[in-house]
Amino acid sequence: QHAVPQATLETVLAKVATRQVSDAVTTHIDYAAYRAAGGYALLRDCIEGRRDVESVIATMDSSGLRGLGGAGFPLGRKWRIVRAEAGPRLMAVNIDEGEPGTFKDRFYLERDPHRFLEGMLIAAWAVGIEAIYIYLRDEYHGCRAMLEAELDKLRLDPPVPGMPPIYLRRGAGAYLCGEESAMIESIEGKRGMPRLRPPYVAQVGLFGRPTLEHNFESLYWVREILERGGEWFASHGRNGRRGLRSFSVSGRVREPGVKLAPAGITIRELIDEYCGGMLDGHDFYAYLPGGASGGILPASMGDIPLDFDTLQPHGCFIGSAAVVVLSNHDSAVDAARNTMAFFKDESCGQCTPCRNGTAKALDLIRRPQWDTLLLGELSQVMRDASICGLGQAAPNPVDCVIKYFPHELVQP
Ligand code: SF4
Repeated sequence: QHAVPQATLETVLAKVATRQVSDAVTTHIDYAAYRAAGGYALLRDCIEGRRDVESVIATMDSSGLRGLGGAGFPLGRKWRIVRAEAGPRLMAVNIDEGEPGTFKDRFYLERDPHRFLEGMLIAAWAVGIEAIYIYLRDEYHGCRAMLEAELDKLRLDPPVPGMPPIYLRRGAGAYLCGEESAMIESIEGKRGMPRLRPPYVAQVGLFGRPTLEHNFESLYWVREILERGGEWFASHGRNGRRGLRSFSVSGRVREPGVKLAPAGITIRELIDEYCGGMLDGHDFYAYLPGGASGGILPASMGDIPLDFDTLQPHGCFIGSAAVVVLSNHDSAVDAARNTMAFFKDESCGQCTPCRNGTAKALDLIRRPQWDTLLLGELSQVMRDASICGLGQAAPNPVDCVIKYFPHELVQP
């Protein structure tokens, strides 16, 4: 229904300058078009020895690219760690994209699937991977049909000999299966519950083998970085940060959508320069910098660079860069109630601090008057004793309300 031109990466990048990245598209670059435009030549260079593994990993290092699923682990370092493990090694690609407010992976997958697949195959070559498992969010049924068709074309007419087998696995809608070890359990056909670590999935992952686990978008950038150089990627950035970030922006802005912007941009800059400002009749009040789990900050703290590590001192994090903008028509208390209800539903129930903690916290914050002392103690227990990030991060929005939005709470 939207007449939008086919988005090659060139056009996406060009739009960084004009700040017009839109999230409406109906077509994708198929296998034939991708190859006709020079796609998979880089993979061939790797396989046929015109690129060597060490220089490829060094380029990834120099780009500063970090995992874009939320954890932010440096890509090149992860490749070295898994490569150093004894084979056979496997790869798991996370396209579960379950963090509320996140839609960047789908945005790129719908437009340019082979750019991601080529990056994935280059990573597999560099690390010595024997089989690849792609884990796709089941709600992305349109993407699944398209990806299955494009994978079939790739298998029937492989651009290089000896590609590792690629298996597509469907998620079943569990938020928690975006957590890497829960995803691996799910791929293995088990209930998606996080594993205790160590051992880390890089050592003992899928089917007990060393596993390279990546978010979709991390692999999407591999080709561009290898073609343009690590310095090209690192040359973007603001406020002392380096690289590009794809922000999924939603909420009370004029132009929500995926915004490819410099790492370290502030929320105020993002709203004004990339989102056309706030909606008419709405004043910027607060923002969630990292989906449901990344906390809530007031507009008065809108000048913090948005990037890995920069929000931690304020009890927040950027995660997968899902930014939700709230206005004077919203309340942080409502947002915290909403996110805690979500975490209670999505808790796998494996550990007590999270299973009981989310339920107890929800009960406490649904009351008109908050027992902030008790909530503070509960948050601390959940943070300290939960097995995985869900239970550890679930109290973030509540803690933020107590810290930054006391005016919204009914005082005793
Ligand atoms: Fe499951 Fe929550 Fe424990 Fe994670 S923290 S393992 S989601 S119960």
